[in-house]
Amino acid sequence: MTRVAMLSVHACPLAKLGGRDSGGMNVYVRELARDLGARGIEVDVFTRWRERYDPRIQQLGPNARVIHVESGPIGYWPKMAVYEHLDQFGEKLLEHVAAEGKRYDLVHAHYWLSAKVARTLAEHWRVPRIQMFHTLGLVKREVLDEDIDGESDVRVAIEREAVRESAAIVAASTIELAELRQLYRADPSRVAVIPCGVDPEVFKPVRQADAREALGRDQCERLVLFVGRIEQIKGIDVLLRALGLLFQRHPDLRSDVCLLVVGGALDPGDDAPETEKILELRRLVHEHRMEANVAFVGSRDQEQLALYYAAADVCAVPSLTESFGLVALEAMACGTPVVGTRVGGLQTLIEDGESGLLVPAGDDTALAEAIHAVLTDHRLRTHLSHGARERAERFTWSRVGQRMTELYDKVLAAAAGGRGAQPPDRVEV
Ligand code: UDP
Repeated sequence: MTRVAMLSVHACPLAKLGGRDSGGMNVYVRELARDLGARGIEVDVFTRWRERYDPRIQQLGPNARVIHVESGPIGYWPKMAVYEHLDQFGEKLLEHVAAEGKRYDLVHAHYWLSAKVARTLAEHWRVPRIQMFHTLGLVKREVLDEDIDGESDVRVAIEREAVRESAAIVAASTIELAELRQLYRADPSRVAVIPCGVDPEVFKPVRQADAREALGRDQCERLVLFVGRIEQIKGIDVLLRALGLLFQRHPDLRSDVCLLVVGGALDPGDDAPETEKILELRRLVHEHRMEANVAFVGSRDQEQLALYYAAADVCAVPSLTESFGLVALEAMACGTPVVGTRVGGLQTLIEDGESGLLVPAGDDTALAEAIHAVLTDHRLRTHLSHGARERAERFTWSRVGQRMTELYDKVLAAAAGGRGAQPPDRVEV
């Protein structure tokens, strides 16, 4: 049986989603680990102990566990603070593994923070490492004018090292592959493009009227939805400006259209109280006199989210950059048309005019026009809804698991062929 040490240092697969630093990567690691476990691959996901009452070890499914590793105090920490404690994380992880007497065949790391620990572990255990970045520092640097997290240089250095040294890299789209080649000089023969998945049991069409009633939103005539972490990179301010424009150009819509913003922690008792970003967005709502149209709902679990997607006429994904865009895929699986930006994985997921609409990132006018088209053109909405569902069927976690298993096999076969070689063998993927 293949044993994988999966590293997701700052993103626990069991975390509450939509709050600070908890989103697509948590979902990805959870679903991938579960699928691999069901295939008979033993997966231990090592993650930082963030929630006080979480047990040290939690079962994710057959053959798949989450192991919380102490490093620094419990609670939410900004990423650079997590970075400061990575050595401790690695030491504690090794202690835990030694105490259990376990051996792993490979290390699979998610995000740059995990890449640093993966390097230490792969050297220590003399096993190959696989890296997935989820987002790349240099891509983020291109779209954000300030280095909000103060992470940029150290992050990029770690990413470059991981690109050079990993046996294989997983990219979520061909766009990410191109970014890895151009910005990080990655060797394309070592990059496997494996798009993300969606759970069709959770995200499936529900009658719009039923979903609205279940959510108590039946008073809303036309519903625009945003789902995601409340961060600048998600482009929510562009969406609010687009809505302002929409109302300016079509005043009749002001009494008809609601925007629900799902994500972020709004409960003051929560680990992440209402953030600066939400306050800033509320000011924008006020400027455009849209208080009656826009509601910040806070985070919702995925079962609830499925109802939000089904209730919506259109799901806006106005991200400035997006390595894949699970929210878009989930909405599509529910048959909800998506208006997304022509960035990253969104442009490979959505076929413009067929399974959604694409607009340039940061362009509030184009976004307003696309939302207007979907809201007012019934035929277009129906066409996009069918196209979206059809397209989404191709993206399942089971397919991700199968492709990952094939990648593991190749990496392990290459490493076995060159046993003893240092650094671990690389593989053509
Ligand atoms: N999500 C959630 N509840 C929320 C907000 C988001 O469960 O309140 C989930 C959503 O279903 C999706 C993920 O968080 O699976 C966000 O993934 P995406 O790839 O869109 O963005 P990322 O967080 O990776 O930037």
